[in-house]
Amino acid sequence: MNTLRELMAALPKAELHLHLEGSVMPLTLIELAAKNNIVLPEYAKPLDLYEFDKDLAAFLNVYNLVCESIVDHQDFERVTYECLANCHMNGARYVELFFSPQAHFKYGVSYATCLNGVVAGKNRAFEDLGIECQLIPGVNREKPADENLAFLHTILNTQRDQVVGIGLDYYENPFPPELHLETFQLAKEQGLRLTAHAGEAGPAENVQKSVDILGCERIDHGYHIVDSPDMLAEFSKGDIVFTVCPSTTTITTHWHDLADPQHAIKRMVEGGLKVMINSDDPPMMGTDLANEYVLLVEQMGFSLSDIKAFILNGVDAAWISEDKKAYWHKEWAKEIDDLFSKYTTNVQSNLAQSNSGGLVNHDQ
Ligand SMILES: [Zn+2]
Repeated sequence: MNTLRELMAALPKAELHLHLEGSVMPLTLIELAAKNNIVLPEYAKPLDLYEFDKDLAAFLNVYNLVCESIVDHQDFERVTYECLANCHMNGARYVELFFSPQAHFKYGVSYATCLNGVVAGKNRAFEDLGIECQLIPGVNREKPADENLAFLHTILNTQRDQVVGIGLDYYENPFPPELHLETFQLAKEQGLRLTAHAGEAGPAENVQKSVDILGCERIDHGYHIVDSPDMLAEFSKGDIVFTVCPSTTTITTHWHDLADPQHAIKRMVEGGLKVMINSDDPPMMGTDLANEYVLLVEQMGFSLSDIKAFILNGVDAAWISEDKKAYWHKEWAKEIDDLFSKYTTNVQSNLAQSNSGGLVNHDQ
């Protein structure tokens, strides 16, 4: 393990902010579109399909095209398995996976089809790779409140153990959290956990409202909280964990430069917030989970001890039993320390070798 990338891929990690449909690889999209007779835009190479203007609305157009291309049980099983295999390659041991059933309804795909396919893919990934996963159906904030409440009833009537909570996502600005209060209240009463995308493209007050009004236990993104010093100070005293996604900020927010000392994630950490690191929609954002951690060190200037803290924040924020949390906290901390010391020793010995001419041509 000589490179930072190898280290970051080896570290045990939780991924709590990942969208199933946003994790479909472009080659899979091409195959699914061909199978289901969906016309894709012209492209020279597969990755061109994920070229879009740097804003949330443009991203959501591409996201919807992917949703249209995933149609039957087999498709959902395939994309879930591939998504979790990718997480596994990046060192994720535990995933809470968002999926967007409502984006499939308009193409005649039922919630049961989505859920059963996803559960089949998730079970196969666990058997083959040992990666654990729980599911979070995303509630589309752009939909009318009564439609979302009806969707929640569908979720509850089809309840399966693997569905651990609900999230709130899609275009944030004209759709503040309180529009969906009734849905979130009922979900909580029925024992579902709650999270919401807030403060990504929308204002800091969406973070506060998601927690105070909707009762969210986590915040997805949350960057605009840095616009409110009071709120930053208040949240630094609490237990809310922010699931941040460095590469996404360079596309859907105005913090395009990760090296900027004023970057929101940097200010959130400096302000004392608990953050943990995620990949969101990896191929669409041109990244993967290990790369997100590399960026933290190489571009944002975080230390290895910061990395360890972020990973353990992920354990704290996971919707798992307290026993499991305590166990992973202890075991992962040991494993992280061990990997850090091996990495540091290797880097030092490589440095010593290069200083002593170890990299000079030995062919003579
Ligand atoms: Zn997201």
